[in-house]
Formats: sequence, structure tokens, C-alpha cells
Amino acid sequence: MPTASTPIYARVALPCPLYRVFDYRLAQPGRIAPGSRVRVPFGRRNLVGVVVELSPDTELPPAQIRPLSELLDAQPVVPPDLLALLCWAAGYYHHPIGEVLAQALPALLRQGRPARIEQTRHWQLSAAGRAVDPADLARAPRQAALLSVLTRCPEGADRDRLQHEGLYRRDSLRALVDKGWVEERLETPGLDTPGAGAAAPSLNPAQADAVQAVAEHAGFGCFLLDGVTGSGKTEVYIRAIEQALAAGRQTLLLVPEIGLTPQLMQRLRARLAAPMVILHSGLSERERLNAWVAARDGAARIVVGTRSAVFTPLPAPGLFIVDEEHDPSLKQQDGFRYSARDLLIWRARQQDVPVLLGSATPSLESLYNADQGRYQRLHLPNRAGAASAPELKLLDIRGQPLREGLAEPLLGAMRRHLARGEQVLLFLNRRGFAPTLICHECGWVAACRRCDSHLTLHQRRGRLHCHHCDASQEVPVQCPECGSPDLRGLGYGTERIEQTLQQLFPDHPCLRIDRDSTRRKGQLEALLEQAHSGAARILLGTQMLAKGHHFPGVTLVGILEADQRLFSSDFRASERLAQLIVQVAGRAGRAERPGTVLIQTHHPDHPLLRRLVTEGYAAFAAAALAERRDTGLPPYASLALLRAEATDREAPREFLEQAHALAQQQSGPEIEFWGPVPAPMEKRAGRYRAQLLVQSAARAALHRLLDAWIPVLAESPAARRIRWSVDVDPVDTF
Ligand code: ADP
Ligand code: ZN
Ligand code: ZN
Repeated sequence: MPTASTPIYARVALPCPLYRVFDYRLAQPGRIAPGSRVRVPFGRRNLVGVVVELSPDTELPPAQIRPLSELLDAQPVVPPDLLALLCWAAGYYHHPIGEVLAQALPALLRQGRPARIEQTRHWQLSAAGRAVDPADLARAPRQAALLSVLTRCPEGADRDRLQHEGLYRRDSLRALVDKGWVEERLETPGLDTPGAGAAAPSLNPAQADAVQAVAEHAGFGCFLLDGVTGSGKTEVYIRAIEQALAAGRQTLLLVPEIGLTPQLMQRLRARLAAPMVILHSGLSERERLNAWVAARDGAARIVVGTRSAVFTPLPAPGLFIVDEEHDPSLKQQDGFRYSARDLLIWRARQQDVPVLLGSATPSLESLYNADQGRYQRLHLPNRAGAASAPELKLLDIRGQPLREGLAEPLLGAMRRHLARGEQVLLFLNRRGFAPTLICHECGWVAACRRCDSHLTLHQRRGRLHCHHCDASQEVPVQCPECGSPDLRGLGYGTERIEQTLQQLFPDHPCLRIDRDSTRRKGQLEALLEQAHSGAARILLGTQMLAKGHHFPGVTLVGILEADQRLFSSDFRASERLAQLIVQVAGRAGRAERPGTVLIQTHHPDHPLLRRLVTEGYAAFAAAALAERRDTGLPPYASLALLRAEATDREAPREFLEQAHALAQQQSGPEIEFWGPVPAPMEKRAGRYRAQLLVQSAARAALHRLLDAWIPVLAESPAARRIRWSVDVDPVDTF
């Protein structure tokens, strides 16, 4: 007999951009728990949602409440601790709960598929199949197309992949299998086989102290593992993971970009003999769901993933780790703008688990938290093994002749290091041939029609490309203004430097690593292999090269352009620059030979740059923190950024002005507003953008305002006519 308190309504989060949940009537009260997926009628559609709460009553007239269509999970697919995390995150980041939940679940679960591991069919060319030329199959074009695709996928392809190419045909596949050209097998995608136990180095005292501090700690605690590049942070992670494994606990390790750090994955696999899953953007949906289920069921003992892996359910968590905790990619930059690092710390507290934040260049936020005693600092001051720290030098290029952007002292150093058989790494964070194409006759500049930016010249592909909206066009043969054929690339990108290096150092093979040279699957691994084997003598690249790699043969690093970021409008630019310099520098001198780092600059007297070079990152960070304190910026203040964009230039500012007026009614003197102002790049991808920055020295006051303001703003008619978003703790304020 249901009593007055028996829940008969389910509050359901649905994948839609509304700041609310929706009530539905339960068919059988008592059979359902929060965290279960349900199918519900919504308008004329049927949607999959997640029950976030059960309730004996509803605010709507009960007659208006529709019944649930279907209960999809016997066991809640979102366990209570994860549901609590997601509800908290939706509130903190002011993002609609339905979208937050949708983001946290693998796509197949969002579509209502069962939460269980499934094997999939997999097709791969046989030896006989590899000998066939698809061109000979003119009368079976589908089979020919399948053969070509499978030729490009040496490790085989599954249904998702073939469907993606528009080529999934059972009958054609069967015909190829019958001919013996293709092999079909069942696989369990997404699950890693346990690795072998490779030999472990004995820890140096600093590492041993760090491992012990984590081991001795019971329950929640936040550790900042502040260790110079090559100091053996990964080794500390591995030991801490081993301890968690021995205690029967799972580890969740977040990394910025898995694709960029194949070495880290190889090391974890070689050392840790436990089932591990790796969650990254390259997985198929089936792989993702299998890995997710393996983590949820406890079969996976180690979960490694990029930021969204913070939402992986774990029945027995024992250790959380964030590698490269300073990396901006841990913050999602669109839609639900969460910080995976900050959410993992929240989760660690909630689940009473220690969390380890590792970096050679900790964020100013984390250093501040360590200073305040909120985090325990673990310091690895020296490189592990025999390697010594590289030496940083500023190379004053004012008034110096440059060879295509390279100063003579840098070229001289390159010659010396190359002559000794050592490798050289050059860093330039700009891909393409030249950032600008200009008419030498009349000064016309190739600009993007949809953005406030120039088009980058990609000479090899013969195209102009916008790096902001992806627009692309052929390089004109003559100036559209004056007709002159004298069009020239202005400035330098990696493609141009590569060409110059090939001319200047014809005997030393040069390897370029950037997004253009690593577009296809497997290309990055192949290039890194050439870098490690020593086949390539000069490594040239963008920030893809800066992260996580070890190049033991590199003894000289040249940083071609540091200046641009010294004068950026973003208050974090100098922090990012320092991190980038130190990270790139960290690639050098990893073996016995020490490394040298030359930084080309027009501003050798810039105080932050000087301090970084003469005293190191810690001194730089202390000075930068003092500057933030004096100017009242994070971590001494909390920020939220309200952004708006529209195809009409005035609309974003008008909307933000209304929003501003609304906020002022609700806020006290402890809140400051900056703007609304146009975004630094006002027009992007055909839309005009503006922003309003909200700042307070008191985090609680800022959040009180957001709690009162955003829901009202979201309901306002103006908010429905424009694209807008709120970014809490923004990492990019432009
Ligand atoms: P980080 O993650 O701090 O950059 P790694 O853990 O990758 O540093 O270690 C850098 C190099 O030093 C690796 O080649 C690693 O195998 C080696 N190494 C780490 N710890 C030790 C140790 N205690 N003794 C000898 N070599 C070590
Ligand atoms: Zn011209
Ligand atoms: Zn553009």
C-alpha cells in the first residue's frame, strides 16, 4: 500500500539545453533507483534520460504528468557517487544537468543500448587479400572499395569503422571472406591485455619520499608532485599505482592528450601487470562502452584517460592522478566547460581517496594551494639517473641578421651539436609556411572572410587556410586588388623553417612534427620512431613536441619565437609561455650529455623571462603569483566569463548589457564586472562575439551571484535568441 511518502514521480534529466529536470509518473513505485536510464515521452519524441531523484510529489498538476515509457536499467547505470558528482558539477559550472549527464555517458548508453560488454566482428586482410589489387575487381566495386579500406587499416576494421566510410555491407564482406581474402574474428574492443613486469629502477631518495607520503596517507589528501622534467614523476605514479593494486583498489589517471604520449602508455603497459583501459577520443563507441563497463564492474583496475575519463564509474577507487596538471586541455573549452582536474579533486574528497597532481611546471593555482597548506607538496628537484638539467639562455636577436627567422648564433650552435653527432630540436608554435600572404605591390593581405584573422599560407598543399574556422581556398596566382603576381609569404611557420633547414643542413635529415604532418593515424608514432632511432637529426615542431616525449639524443633546443605571448591580453599568457619553455627545454639532455636551450627574443630584458632563465620556474612562479596578488587576479580572485555570439554585430553586446543590468540588481560590492567588450578576435567563423567578465575576491560571493543570476537569465526571452554560455573558472579569458 503506497503511503504519502512513497515516491511515485521520477525527476528525469534529459539531453536538452534547459536548466531543469522533468517529472514523470512511475509505473511501479519502488522498482527504480536514481541513476537509472529511462525512456520518456518528450513532446512528440521519445528520449533517453537519467533519473536523478524520486519524489512523492510534484509541483505540476498531477494530471499533466505523463508516465515513463520504459525502464532501461535494472541496476542504475550511474552509481550514486557519480550522480552526486555530476549534479554538483552541473550546479558549479551552471550547465544544464541533462547535458552534463549526457556528456558523462558513452554514446551507446545515451542511445539506450544495454550497459554490458559486447564482442564485435572484426575484418582484416589475409595474406592472400594483401596480394590482391582492388583495381582488378572492377566488376565488384563494393568489394574493391572494402579491400582498399582494409589495406589502409592494417590492424583491421569493425562495423563502426566501415559504416563511417559508408561501406558496411555484410554480403560483400561475406564474399571476401569466402574468397579467403579477408579474415573475420570476434574481438572485445576497448580492453587491454595485462602487460608484463618490466624491470623497475630503484627509487632515488626524493622519489622514495614521495611514494611513501602517498602510501602512508589514509583517505583524502591532495598531493602536488612538483618534479622537474625527467625527475621520475612517472616512476612515482607507477609505484603508487602498484600500492593501490596491492590494496585491491582501482586507479584513475588523467592525462592531457593520449595521442601525444604513446611512450607513457607503453611504459604503463610494460610495468603494470593489471587489466587497464584507456579512454581517449580515438576509440570507437563500442570500445568506449566496453572500457566503461569494465571500469564500472571493477574488471579494469587501471583507467587512463583524457579529461572526460573523470566521469568513469569505479566501484573501488584507491588512487587518482592528474599528469601535467597545469595543462589547459584538462579544461573543456566549449559546451559543458568543466575542469577535469578540479572535478577529480572534488571526487577524491567525496570518495575519500588520495589525489596526486603531477607537473614540472605546476599551475599557479596549485602552487598557491600548496603554499596555503591545502595540498601537500612533494618535490623532485633533480633529474633521475645520470641526466643533468639543461641550461637556458636568452638569445638577443635585436638588430641581428636572421636567416628565415634563424639567428646566426643559433645556427652556429646547431652546426656544433650536429657535428658531434647529437640531435637538435627546434620549437615554433606555428604550423604552415607563413602566417600571412601579402601583395608586394599594393599591400593587400589575404584575410579570412569569416574571421578577424589572416589566412595561413600552406605552400606544399597550395592552399590558404584559416586556423580559426578551418576555411580553406587555393592560393591566388595574382593579387585580387591590383593584379600583381608578386604575392609573398610574410613571417615563418614550421613548413617554411623545414625548407630552410633542408637547404642549410642538407646532410642532416629534418623531421617536422605538427598537426599537418601527423594527420593520418599512425603518422605521429612513425615520426617519433625516427626521432628516437636517431634517423632524424633535426626535430622541428609545434607544441605537439613539447609534451611528455623523451629524446635522449637531443642536446640543443632552439625556441624560435617566444615574444608574441609576452604581450598578450590574456593574463595567463606569461604563465603559459614559461610552462611551454620549460616543457620544451625538458626534452633536451635527458641522457648523460647535458642540454642547452637557446631562446630567441627581442625582449631579453623582460623581467619574467629573465627570472625564468636565471632562476628557474619556481622563482618565475613566485614572481608571477605576487603579480597576480597585486592585480587581484586568480588564484587571488574567482572569475566567471559570460560569452555571447551572433551573426549580427550588435546582438551579443545588447544581450550582455541586459545580463549585466540583471546581475547588478542581485550583486553586492564584492563583485566586479568588466565589460561587456568585444572578444579580442571579435569575428570568428562568421559570428560576432562579446564577453562580460565577472570577478570577485570571494569565491562564495561569486557563486551566490551566479546561482541567483544564471537561472533567471536563462529564462529571459533574450537568452533564447542568442548563443551564450557561462564559463566558470575560465582558463582562456579571450
Ligand atoms: P618524468 O615523468 O618526471 O618526466 P620519468 O619518470 O619519465 O620522469 O623519468 C625520466 C627517466 O628517468 C626515464 O627514462 C626513467 O626510466 C628514468 N628513471 C626514473 N626514475 C629512475 C630512477 N630512480 N633511477 C634511474 N632511472 C630512473
Ligand atoms: Zn596587390
Ligand atoms: Zn576563419
